[in-house]
Order: sequence, then C-alpha cells, then structure tokens
Amino acid sequence: MFKALLLQQTEGKTSASVTDVDYEQLPDGEVTVKVAYSSLNYKDGLAITGWGKIIRQFPMVPGIDFVGQVVNSSDVRYQTGDWVILTGWGVGENHWGGMAEFAKVKADWLVPMPRDCDVTKAMMIGTAGLTAMLCVQAIMEDDVTPDSGAVLVTGASGGVGSAAVTLLSALGYQVTASTGRIESNGELLRKLGANDVISRDEFTSPGRPLDKQRWAAVIDTVGEQTLATALAQLKYGGVAAICGLVGGYKLPTTVMPFILRGISLRGIDSVYCPTDKRIKAWNQALDILPETFYNRACQIISLTEVPKFAFDIINGNVTGRTIIKIS
Ligand code: NAP
Repeated sequence: MFKALLLQQTEGKTSASVTDVDYEQLPDGEVTVKVAYSSLNYKDGLAITGWGKIIRQFPMVPGIDFVGQVVNSSDVRYQTGDWVILTGWGVGENHWGGMAEFAKVKADWLVPMPRDCDVTKAMMIGTAGLTAMLCVQAIMEDDVTPDSGAVLVTGASGGVGSAAVTLLSALGYQVTASTGRIESNGELLRKLGANDVISRDEFTSPGRPLDKQRWAAVIDTVGEQTLATALAQLKYGGVAAICGLVGGYKLPTTVMPFILRGISLRGIDSVYCPTDKRIKAWNQALDILPETFYNRACQIISLTEVPKFAFDIINGNVTGRTIIKIS
C-alpha cells in the first residue's frame, strides 16, 4: 500500500483525502516512479475542489506534474534510479497523477532530470515555470527584444506570472506586473524583477478598440476583458503570448489592433508540447532563473495540506509556486 491524495465524487460533489492505495490500482504505464515532489497549479485547484470539470473518471489521483526516481521500467530509455520529471499529458486529469507516493506513466511522457537541476527546483519550476518559459520563448521568436519596450505580465503573483516576471527581468526586459494584490505582493514582484507594478483593475473595464500603445508584448494568464484591454494597448507589431483563463475563457475583443497595428496572438500549451521543445525550455528556464526565484517565490507544503491550498489557489490567494513534499 502507498499514500495518495484520492479524489472521489458523490452526487456530483468532489471530495479529496489522503488514502492508502494498493499498488495494483496504479494505471498502465511503462515506468513506475517514486514521487519526491508534486506541485499545486491552478488546474489542480480546479480538479481537487471540483470547481472545474477537469476529472471525468473517479477515483482519481490529482497532480499534473511531479519529479521522482524510477523504481521500475520496461522502457530502455529509463533505468531504476533515474530521476525524471513529468508535466502535462493529461496526467492528474485522466491518468493518476503526482499527488501520491508512486505514479505509473508512459515513458514518452517523461523528461530526464536536466543537468544542474535538483529535485526541489524541478517542481519549483514545474508546469507553471515551463509554461512561463514557453511564453517568453514565443515573444522572443516574434522578435520582441529588451529594447522593444515594456512587457506586461498579468496574474503576476501566480505560478506562471511570478516565473514570467522573473524570467523576463533576468533576460533584461522591462517588466510591468499586473496584480490584484499590490499591497501584499507589490514588493515581492519588484524583488523578482518587475520595474513597475500596476493594479489589475486597469484592465477590467471595456475600453476603446485601439487604446494608447503601452506594451511591446503581453504574457497573459487571465483572459476575458483583461486580455482584450491588453491587446488594445499592444504597440504596433506587438505579441501576446496567452496561456490562462483565471479571469474567464472568453475574449471580447475586436479585429482592430490586429489589422491596424499588426499585432499577433500566440497560444501557449505546455500539456501536449513536444518533448524536444520541453527539454529545451527546461534547460533554458534552469539557466535563466536566479536563486532569488526559488528562495522568494516558492513554498513547500505537505500532501495533507493540499485540499485547503486547492481552495486558496482557486480563490486567487496563493502567491508564487507551491510545491508538495511527497516522500
Ligand atoms: P495561479 O498560481 O493561481 O495564478 C493565477 C494568478 O492570477 C493569481 O495569483 C492572481 O494573481 C491572478 N488572478 C486570480 N484570479 C483572478 C481573477 N479572477 N481575475 C484576474 N486575475 C486573477 O495559477 P497558475 O498555475 O499560474 O495558472 C495561471 C493560468 O494559466 C491558469 O488559467 C492555468 O490554467 C493556466 N495555465 C495554462 C497552461 C497551458 O499550458 N496553457 C499551463 C499552466 C497554467 P494576482 O493576485 O497577482 O492578480
């Protein structure tokens, strides 16, 4: 038997509790991993609280990412004792995930632990850090340079947001962090590298289709009116790398900034991102992120604390990255 955070559903209501589970209940997969850390992402919050229709099959072990050591492998790419990382691929959604002492997954879903990485750093970056790196890559691919002007990061206190602020600043970009928590988190965001911290209220009301040009690029985790306003404020030729929907999934915009300012929208997905691209992003994130990110923007919790933190993250009350010590 091993310990897992097990999600059950009764009469449409999701419950989560740490439970002893039989090894035989592990799903199919070529590689069995003893999990060291998982992490809490917004999607995990939706799954654990049942606020989002993330899980379709119960019982389910949540945890969309984990780092751990291989204990058994029928795939030649992985040997017992290897350290591996998993993010995405529907794990923790439709395949038992990382919030358990053991996980069994497809070898194709794993990436070997990158050089210069340690176990805690791997999850401090995790899905959120990887996604932030992919967003930063996207704006760089679209020729936005540190000389192009300020880059706006929305949902800046969150996992993706705090990593994006840190990465951009470390690369020399001028960063404007948009947050709903200036008082409590403004100082932290500046310490992570934000040159300016502004209220998210600036983006919540519908404005003109073409607003004052403020941003060379936007990394958006919020969606809805926030993204629409940011698009209307993009400079000529600017780009928005978008990955999230904490404010909602709609996009009430117009064609105007696209056809009159030549702006572009880059959708970012880390879940099914090809392995070569993710390995590149992992190595880049590890190279760029300073120690201050790990020291200032990350906290460690236990598996039993997860249900409470799941509600906190959905309510926008968690700052930075929350990693879960499993074993
Ligand atoms: P998170 O840690 O909860 O961060 C979200 C942040 O957004 C919060 O800290 C808060 O920051 C802000 N926020 C919360 N509720 C809000 C609201 N109603 N309106 C405006 N801002 C709000 O979440 P995360 O794990 O970083 O994920 C962020 C988003 O990216 C989620 O939608 C997640 O599903 C998505 N995501 C997508 C991918 C992908 O592959 N596409 C991967 C990872 C995450 P402030 O207090 O500073 O405003």
